[in-house]
Amino acid sequence: MSFSPKGNLIAGQWCDGPRTFTSSPALGSSYEFSAGSAELVDRAAQAAEQAFQPYAHCSRQQRATFLEAIAEEIDMRGTEITAIGSQESGLPTARLEGERARTNGQLRLFASYIRKGDYLDRRHDEALPERKPLPRPDLRLIQRPIGPIAVFGASNFPLAFSVGGGDTASALAAGCPVVVKGHDAHPGTGELVADAIAAAAKRCGIHPGVFSYIHGGSRDIGTTLVRHPLIKAVGFTGSLSGGRALFDLCAARPEPIPFFGELGAVNPMFLLPEATKNRGDELGRGWAASLTMGVGQFCTNPGIAVALQDHATSVADAARQALSGVAQQIMLTHGIAQAYHARVDQIKTTKGVHEVMSSNSEAQNAAPNLFVVSGTDFLANPALSEEVFGPTGILVTASNPDEMLEIARNLEGQLAITLHLDNADTELARRLMPILERKAGRVLANNFPTGVEVSDAMVHGGPYPASTNFGATSVGTMAIRRFLRPVCFQGVPEALLPDDLRGSVHHCCIGKHRMMPGG
Ligand code: NAP
Repeated sequence: MSFSPKGNLIAGQWCDGPRTFTSSPALGSSYEFSAGSAELVDRAAQAAEQAFQPYAHCSRQQRATFLEAIAEEIDMRGTEITAIGSQESGLPTARLEGERARTNGQLRLFASYIRKGDYLDRRHDEALPERKPLPRPDLRLIQRPIGPIAVFGASNFPLAFSVGGGDTASALAAGCPVVVKGHDAHPGTGELVADAIAAAAKRCGIHPGVFSYIHGGSRDIGTTLVRHPLIKAVGFTGSLSGGRALFDLCAARPEPIPFFGELGAVNPMFLLPEATKNRGDELGRGWAASLTMGVGQFCTNPGIAVALQDHATSVADAARQALSGVAQQIMLTHGIAQAYHARVDQIKTTKGVHEVMSSNSEAQNAAPNLFVVSGTDFLANPALSEEVFGPTGILVTASNPDEMLEIARNLEGQLAITLHLDNADTELARRLMPILERKAGRVLANNFPTGVEVSDAMVHGGPYPASTNFGATSVGTMAIRRFLRPVCFQGVPEALLPDDLRGSVHHCCIGKHRMMPGG
């Protein structure tokens, strides 16, 4: 199937930038894409600002219909998206089709979520004119959209965490226009999804400025976007270094804005003694499968497993055997493969690290590796706790339960932490739980962290460096909160209130708060 690049999409129009860049697909031919520019960023941000008021004030029903139309338009381009997507990312067809279903599932989930309206968290403190010593005014609170949002597409999920992915879906659901800075690893996939979103906006009569898509081609496109005064928040998935640089830029703006970055994690698993004794083989095989899923390029990849020394052998043996059967596979980009190879070399030469299983991989490929290190050496080398983006695991052998707890206490923030336990492990698990809860956005028992459910109760975030905002999630319906802010309307006549606040709303907190003079 042939593919023709279209350019940058600014408010429904395809535009050329002043330069071009050549794509570097994992497989197949490269194409010449129009690069972004500061002028295009400004046009996109201005158009988003123009779209903001009509879009923020349209009905939830209209926004939900728009989200569903995006899903339909993406499906209408499904064959082309899979074709160019698998060339650009090297991901297999089945994975991309599954990811498209997930992307459209997210869009539809947000549509049904906003129709229900619970996310508005409407509150009403009725006026108490007779209250002594001071009367209470009528107070109504509602969550309102915050303005144009910049989204950085992620390399590792060209659909579900990219142009029409979770950040875009949740921002559009909230009532915020979106400007996407595409990832250079999948510019063609990005263009097709952008085209689908523009077609849906047109079909639904939504202001075209609600969505723009700008290619990269150089670093300053992203920095210009986050610095643009009309941008009010940023959604990002990617590296710790890139995320941190953009986070710092957001904080240094004359008007600082929130940066919702989902950065690195090693997602440790604690394998408790009874569980390893009873089913060490099964745990080792399960770990190997989770570790190699998607060539290890998942943010929830369980890069570290911690077991007690006396019980670690069966896990290591089973994992080694399973990993030995995994062939090298192509990674998403040449840069990601290079970073993987360098990181593996660094681990190999770290004091106290021993190879359980090591394999060679060249060029853009990655093969699995498994290392073992004692708890003492692990604690002495903080670099071993850093993310390896690829199929490499480190088994940490703790000399006793107290050392296991010490390892848990020394962890940085994680997206997910897993406990594997049997009944007789409950006592040790009870000691671990309060520590783990402080370290991760999601704590799992007897499961593997790869595979993130898109639902109401999911949290895909966590303390830094897992994310830059531990109060937020980038997956699941709660992701919408990132792009909303509470506004209180005090004594404002009904006719002037946002539609969603008119009429009866939930009554809560009535009488609980007292206004102090000057408060
Ligand atoms: P990345 O290098 O962080 O890039 C992500 C996006 O941010 C790209 O659009 C990139 O633009 C932009 N960017 C990065 N640094 C920037 C800076 N200093 N200023 C302005 N823009 C910047 O991530 P990646 O390319 O997806 O993968 C590289 C590494 O990130 C991987 O090896 C892996 O370690 C990590 N990663 C982690 C996750 C996760 O889920 N935690 C996901 C993907 C990748 P340019 O294209 O212009 O550089």
